[in-house]
Amino acid sequence: NTQRFANRKILITGASQGIGEDAAMHFAREGAQVAINGRKAEKLRPLLEKLPQPAQGKHLIVAGDMSVEEDVDRVMKETLEGFQGLDVLICNAGMQIECPSEDITLKDFNAVMAVNVTGVVLCARAALRYWRDNDQPGNIIVNSSVHQQIPKPHYLGYSASKGAVGNIVRTLALEYARYNIRVNAVAPGAIVTPINDSWVKDPEKYEATAKHIPMKRPGECREISDAMAFLASGESSYITGQTLFVDGGLTLYADFEENWS
Ligand code: NAD
Repeated sequence: NTQRFANRKILITGASQGIGEDAAMHFAREGAQVAINGRKAEKLRPLLEKLPQPAQGKHLIVAGDMSVEEDVDRVMKETLEGFQGLDVLICNAGMQIECPSEDITLKDFNAVMAVNVTGVVLCARAALRYWRDNDQPGNIIVNSSVHQQIPKPHYLGYSASKGAVGNIVRTLALEYARYNIRVNAVAPGAIVTPINDSWVKDPEKYEATAKHIPMKRPGECREISDAMAFLASGESSYITGQTLFVDGGLTLYADFEENWS
């Protein structure tokens, strides 16, 4: 256990469960001060109590809906005031809604885009303003998905949103590279989290999912947090505009392994 994030201030959106919760633990264990976001403060309190305390300062709960402009602006203000700064923004909050595409409602489509795309833009805007106003370097990491690349039938909004994330990251990276503000994404494959309860909790579906992954198993939250930590650290200091796929080989056209001729 290193303390490579000692004195680093990190905001993680969507940290009440799943990958965001694991990332908060991961960064706190390595010495960071973390601001954990979710829609409801009550849901974040158990995590706050579990987090190892930083040597300096404290962790924060910054509750708010990341798809709502006023909430994002308030969350960012509370974070910046509470921390007196910000080093890394991790846009992790995300959601999906299943539906055959011919039946998709505008309400559902917009709801997914609001969190997965608009939320990322609003959070990034607030952090970029702070870093530019204070002439400071910065680092944004967005949680994308293999569905940035692989189509996801029955999840049109999700596919569209993660495709958009890829270009948001590339565009912001180019726009802010000269200011030493890096912008990257991690793209998880199938990870064991509550978003995947439908197959994680059903042994047959779990097997079926594991079988089509080249490494023959789903990923653990830790494996995504490790990639986020790499992108948040100085070890990735020359990397910007990239999406790091963390997917056990899922994006490698697995069928070609057996049907190569
Ligand atoms: P999850 O459902 O367990 O967690 C999502 C988190 O986001 C929750 O804490 C939820 O409360 C929060 N959230 C949702 N809407 C929000 C909003 N409007 N404002 C604030 N917080 C909100 O899912 P997860 O698997 O941990 O997913 C985290 C991210 O990883 C998502 O962006 C998801 O698309 C991405 N991802 C997950 C997988 C996977 O297999 N689990 C694969 C690829 C990408």
